[in-house]
Amino acid sequence: VSGITTPLRLGFDIGGTKIGIALGDGQGRLCATQRIATPRGPDWQSDLVEIAAAARALLEAQGLDPAAVEAIGIAAPGPLDPERGCLRKPPNLPHWDQVPLRAWFEDAFGVPVQVENDANAAALAEWRYGAGRGVRDLVYLTLSTGLGAGVIANGALVRGAHGAAGELGHLALDPDGELCACGMRGCYEVALGGAAWARRLAHTAPGSSLALALAGSRERLAATHLIEAARRGDAFALAELARWNQALAQLLIVVCYALDPARIVLGTIATAAGEDLCLKPLRSAVAARLWPQMRAVEIVAAALGDELPARAGLAVAFATD
Ligand SMILES: [Zn+2]
Repeated sequence: VSGITTPLRLGFDIGGTKIGIALGDGQGRLCATQRIATPRGPDWQSDLVEIAAAARALLEAQGLDPAAVEAIGIAAPGPLDPERGCLRKPPNLPHWDQVPLRAWFEDAFGVPVQVENDANAAALAEWRYGAGRGVRDLVYLTLSTGLGAGVIANGALVRGAHGAAGELGHLALDPDGELCACGMRGCYEVALGGAAWARRLAHTAPGSSLALALAGSRERLAATHLIEAARRGDAFALAELARWNQALAQLLIVVCYALDPARIVLGTIATAAGEDLCLKPLRSAVAARLWPQMRAVEIVAAALGDELPARAGLAVAFATD
């Protein structure tokens, strides 16, 4: 295939239902992608054999030699040990217990392999390919079912001494609040994550709320319905979003004083809510609590959307330099 310059890099995005495989060239350009269903073999070893075979097939389909691959990046669900590149039984991959991803892929391809958790990988992807381009100090928040975060400081991903740097979703908003999946109480993830929000909304949404009508039932009510209802002027939805913005602003103020980023990139829920319902009120609430010299911080929506799984692993592969 013309235009693809070697050496190549391979990225894998490991998910509970889908695996994204991406091929990048020497300039970091995305050359080819593939998605396969997450294998459900008898054990993780057979699953990894299947994933590696799909990657080799992708290379061959482009007329490329697997020997031209010089590095591999893997985005994987947490919790994981980034030092050893080892998965620790992610909830959506229960039969992948203590999977040594880095060692296995290094053996299979004979190249260096870097493994990062989803949120760090997404931060790297937005930084290299998306809304984070051009800055050296960036904080990215996933804001989907949970609240993952990744921190880029001085032009490099911050991992911390124990691989837990940037776990901003587990700062406490209310130390006596609702129990979080992490075992602590009242984490920001409980206040801002879509899963916990939906759980609360199922109880608190008034029968007259448009959000409930859009969802069809309390069980199905989610942030997307709330955003649509707010857009159409529903009072309950607007009040809920205002409360959500306020909690998020409080977290971003902590982020600004801790890291003083040039840009903060916000994922799914904030992106869906957009300028009027989220970003504009957020910017003014945050700026009101910052020193004047910090107010230039840009608060923007994530840009990659559905392209994220194709970019996340590849961005990790380029972060090994
Ligand atoms: Zn927590």
